[in-house]
Amino acid sequence: MTLRPKTVIVASVAIACAILSITLWVLLQMRHDALRRAKESALNVSLLVERDTARTLEVYDLSLQAVIEGLRHPAVVKLSVDLRQLVLFDHSATAQDMGSMLVLDKDGKVVIESTTTTPLPENLADSDYFKVHRNSSNVGLYISHPFESRLGGHGASIALSRRLSHADGSFAGVVVGTMHLNYFRKLFVGMHLGAGGSMALMLADGTMLMRLPYDAKIVGQSLIGTPNYTLFTKVSNGEFFGTAAIDGMRRWYTFRQIGKFPLILDVALATQDIYAEWDRRTWIIGFLVGAVDLMIIALSLLFAQQLRCRLATEAELRSLARTDGLTGLYNRRTFDEIAQIEWRRAQRKDLPLSLLLIDVDQFKDFNDFYGHPAGDDALAAIAHCLNHAIRRPGDTAARYGGEEFVVLLPDTDLVGAAQVAEHIRSSVQALEHPHLTSAHQIVTVSIGIACTTEQQFATLRAFVSTADAALYDAKARGRNQVV
Ligand code: GH3
Ligand code: MG
Ligand code: MG
Repeated sequence: MTLRPKTVIVASVAIACAILSITLWVLLQMRHDALRRAKESALNVSLLVERDTARTLEVYDLSLQAVIEGLRHPAVVKLSVDLRQLVLFDHSATAQDMGSMLVLDKDGKVVIESTTTTPLPENLADSDYFKVHRNSSNVGLYISHPFESRLGGHGASIALSRRLSHADGSFAGVVVGTMHLNYFRKLFVGMHLGAGGSMALMLADGTMLMRLPYDAKIVGQSLIGTPNYTLFTKVSNGEFFGTAAIDGMRRWYTFRQIGKFPLILDVALATQDIYAEWDRRTWIIGFLVGAVDLMIIALSLLFAQQLRCRLATEAELRSLARTDGLTGLYNRRTFDEIAQIEWRRAQRKDLPLSLLLIDVDQFKDFNDFYGHPAGDDALAAIAHCLNHAIRRPGDTAARYGGEEFVVLLPDTDLVGAAQVAEHIRSSVQALEHPHLTSAHQIVTVSIGIACTTEQQFATLRAFVSTADAALYDAKARGRNQVV
């Protein structure tokens, strides 16, 4: 099988496409992997922070409940102020970033304070947590909106509070503990979320408590109406791609409720961070694969070009080997091949086969008189007449040698062969090519015919000899005729 230039190009383009497809598939997988890893790390950070925060709030709530329990005991109430402090407030309430714990009476007046035995005369009746507990008995643990610590220096705080009730259920006051939001800031800063990552803790009503990147102005802002907050409130935990209302950056969000508390935590990784490494690799791989693909195609084009040249040269050489340079007819060797094939075919199918042997009359004299180059021109003109005389696709004209030509007519009987022969003879005569030393004054040919319908021939050789004998006869009878 010979390799075609087109096949080479198509194959190389197919290979280039295959390489490109595989690369695209691998890059796509890498992109999925990058997102999967980001999802996992965001989820892990959110779980860690949620657990830590929930645990801290639970412990703080237990401290509040312990104060409530303690105050129910008449004996505790009767203790000296110093001892009562020790009984009511355990050490967890004095941990870092935990503010003071206060007990307010039913009018909002501070009656007990964890950090001092002599609380300042202060009334907190207009605080949100006091009003909430006074108005309802079943609030449980209430987490307040952020406010500036009354002592200052710690930034914003929130208050965790529970209601104090009399035995009959009537309002007796509030136990409240403050917690500095700085606690969450330190917790958040310990997590690595990448350059564009963000993390936020908010009240269930959308009030921002803490956010990284930190901005003091954001604390206390309401997120109600922002698309992300709307999604946070739909389910207790989930994840999605979203754009932050605060900075307009696109991120992958993981959010969850903190334990049973009315708090929402979100951990978000910036899309640009998630895909930063992938982007860099895609550029490099894309460039390399593109270069390789271009190289493959360029080389195949070069190869196809060389192949085209070689095939053209081969075809030309083949054609040169089969034809005669002077007349453009088949040469003797090609004729012998064709004659063998046609001879066998005619024998096998029992079809008629005719052969014309054509010889130029007194051509030696022509050469002597007009010169060899003029003789060549005359031979070319005669070959032209031969080519015109044969019409059917199977007919073959060839230069047999010197000034002798041969025409093979498959599937042609003697009458048809005689017609072709006569056509050749008359058209050469019609050329009126001057030949002053000939009896006819012009160039003429004599033609001998052999036909398988007239005689049985044992071999192709005998068949040719018969045509040759007929030609000899034509010469003997005065030339310029068909025998
Ligand atoms: P006849 O009518 O009996 O055939 O006479 P003739 O002169 O043609 O006889 P012969 O066959 O002996 O002569 C052949 C001549 O044809 C010899 C040679 O000068 C000439 N000839 C053969 N091949 C070529 C060729 O390629 N070019 C030219 N110019 N002449 C050729
Ligand atoms: Mg001759
Ligand atoms: Mg001759």
